[in-house]
Amino acid sequence: MKNAVYQKCLNPDCRATYDVGDPLFACQKCGDLLDVCYEWGRLNVPTSLKDFETKWVTRNRPLDRSGVWRFQELLPFCSSEYCLTVGEGQTILQSNDEVACYAGSDPGNLFLQYEGMNPSGSFKDNGMAAGVSHARMVGAEHVACASTGNTSASLALYAHTCGMKCTVFIGSGKIAYGKLSQALDYGAQTIQIQGDFDDCMRQVQDVCRQLKLYLVNSLNPFRLEGQKTIMFRVLEALRWQVPDWIIVPGGNLGNSSAFGKAFVELKELGLIDRIPRLAVINATGANTLFELYENQGLRFNGGHVASEEICKYYKKLDADGYRPDTLASAIEISRPVNLKKCLRALEVCNGVVREVSDTDILDAKAQIGLHGLGCEPASAASVAGLKLLRAQGVIESREQVVCILTGHQLKDPNCTVSYHMDTQGEFSNRPVEVANDLDAVIAEIQK
Ligand SMILES: [Zn+2]
Repeated sequence: MKNAVYQKCLNPDCRATYDVGDPLFACQKCGDLLDVCYEWGRLNVPTSLKDFETKWVTRNRPLDRSGVWRFQELLPFCSSEYCLTVGEGQTILQSNDEVACYAGSDPGNLFLQYEGMNPSGSFKDNGMAAGVSHARMVGAEHVACASTGNTSASLALYAHTCGMKCTVFIGSGKIAYGKLSQALDYGAQTIQIQGDFDDCMRQVQDVCRQLKLYLVNSLNPFRLEGQKTIMFRVLEALRWQVPDWIIVPGGNLGNSSAFGKAFVELKELGLIDRIPRLAVINATGANTLFELYENQGLRFNGGHVASEEICKYYKKLDADGYRPDTLASAIEISRPVNLKKCLRALEVCNGVVREVSDTDILDAKAQIGLHGLGCEPASAASVAGLKLLRAQGVIESREQVVCILTGHQLKDPNCTVSYHMDTQGEFSNRPVEVANDLDAVIAEIQK
């Protein structure tokens, strides 16, 4: 009999299955993405989300304290002995009326999910807790990833914690210094490729195949299992009520893919009665999903995705010499590896995709900093996206919205300082230079 947990190819014409212990990162028959699948009837799943509250009492146990592993019954792919935690998922869902007002939502209806509060400062720790646990389960000794920054920081932290070797590939261009400093500090072997993220992604897959390293990029299906827990914590903070909308920045599309899978599984299990709508927000300078979904009408179509349309689009990008370009470096990706899974999430969540400019992102970021806990540029795409969707009347002011803030404000301090030093920014807060003189300082403060 097949195991209750296995991996399955996303392609409906293939549907090949693999053992949960196979360290694959693509279907070996057709090359498509893989899912982690569960036969829930053979697993021990709570009958109510409220049952998870029993773990609040046993928070002294590291796995019950973890914001990922306290939901282990909803991602039961490995036994507890392999589950690795560094204290991820101690995040908060903050109701924020000032940012709601900026974006055009009614007071009480906007919540900011602060994933920057994770140990390495970004949402990536959710996926890495799961991905590196799977690496341990299959006996991997050396892990690798390509990264715009946050993934390498997170992987370096988790690998170091459990004594694995770690190699990270980063582009020679725009990695934010906060992120690079983490990978170096956590002792990762850091390889800088002369190219962008998409180039790194291609290299790391070839290297992993050749050297048999364990690949922990977001095409690794086990990472997405960890990222499902962001939604479980949102529901937990809302006392298990489903919000109307989830808004998430779109880069490699791992989060949106994981969120869609989380809601489908919760619905199947009868743990929620409806699925929220999903909005994925691209930066204008890296808008592949927006172009394909909104302008060209690409759909999941029960898994029969028109792959030739995607190939045609990528060929055009190559022919035009296109390079993605946005200050939101974490989502500066033109060939998102989880595109098909994201299309599935958009289908099940009746989703929309929008693009927002760097100016809109930076203004929204300044508002989040002024009224919230601050975030890195890519995160603010979610709030900029809400503002746009409110202006377009797609989201109503009375609807309850959760914006995911994916990374910490200190990930990219250069970007923040540049915005505030530039008097052109709508919310710039420029430092003032004053002579080293008491009267002059007092005069300036009293201005
Ligand atoms: Zn396949």
